[in-house]
Formats: sequence, structure tokens, C-alpha cells
Amino acid sequence: MGSGTWRRIVAWLRSGLGYNSGMKSRLVIDLSRLPEDGERFEGELPAEIFDLPPEDAQATGPLIYDLFVQRFGSELLLSGNLEVPFEFTCVRSLHPFIQTIRLDPAAISIEILREGEMDVTEALREEVLINFPHDPRCEEGDVEQECEIDSRYLAVDKLEEPEVETAPRDEASTGWNALDALKDLKDQL
Ligand SMILES: [Zn+2]
Repeated sequence: MGSGTWRRIVAWLRSGLGYNSGMKSRLVIDLSRLPEDGERFEGELPAEIFDLPPEDAQATGPLIYDLFVQRFGSELLLSGNLEVPFEFTCVRSLHPFIQTIRLDPAAISIEILREGEMDVTEALREEVLINFPHDPRCEEGDVEQECEIDSRYLAVDKLEEPEVETAPRDEASTGWNALDALKDLKDQL
């Protein structure tokens, strides 16, 4: 799992704390009404449930779920499929692109901590987030896109090359130039 994914999970844990479980934008399972042989739940949850920091990927549509929910002792099993479109930024070309995260099949097991109503929204949210691409690439988007690196970024890379490499190749002084460059570097640190 990449560090980016962990960053998203941490962001999710932080942002999830403020949720009001009484809102209708949640999927709540009433355990007391859930048939022993399970029940199917279909619907949509608004994109807002993801509520990720602006520099992160953003949901561009609702989370669509079609799940069969069944209880096994102290565990609630949700199986079926989930899908939700996100706008990612390509790690190579930095282009924004839309990729639908599709979990089919999805299987989510949640421990039942208390009886009554159980809000499973955050479990669905987490399942989507941990299935984000580690290195989003625009070629893998819903609409095929050519992954071209913007020449502006190439120019920036050139400016950042260490000066040692562009120093004049004078045989007698190259060694000293390199040493001076190292000294300068040390002073800057
Ligand atoms: Zn790209």
C-alpha cells in the first residue's frame, strides 16, 4: 500500500468524525428488521460523503451500491458491488482525469458492536478509498487520454539540475569547481 493511500485513510478518519448519523445521505441497516437470510440494499450515497481535502482526488458523482446484507453472529457481511467516479491527477503528466472506482465483487465485513441501527456508510467509504489506484495514470481513466508530460514541467526539471554537472569541462579546474560547488551546497544546508 502506497503512502498516498495511507494519507487518504488518515484524512478520512479525521473527516469522518464530524458526521451526523441522522442525515439521509447515509446507509443505515436496522439490525432488528434485517431478515435472518439477509436483504438486498440498492441505492446511492452523495459524493459529499467522501469529503477529501481539496488537493486530493474528488468524487464527481454518487456512490452507487447494490449490496446483499446478511448477519453472521457478531458480523455484518455486505456483498455485491460499489462504484463511484473520481477525478484523479495523473502522477506522470499531472493531467486531471476521471476514473470510476468499481468494486465488483465487493465484500465488506463489519463487526457488530451494538444492536439496533448500524450506519455502514463509513465502511463503504473506506472500502472505496483503500481501493484507489496507488499511482493514478490518465491512461487508465474512463476516457482514454494520451499521457503526455507537459513541457513546462520538463523546463522546471532542467533548472533544478545541480550546477556541478553544467560547470565548464576545463581539465585543470573541474575538480576545484566541483569542490566549490559542494562547499556552496554545504553552506546552503
Ligand atoms: Zn498522464
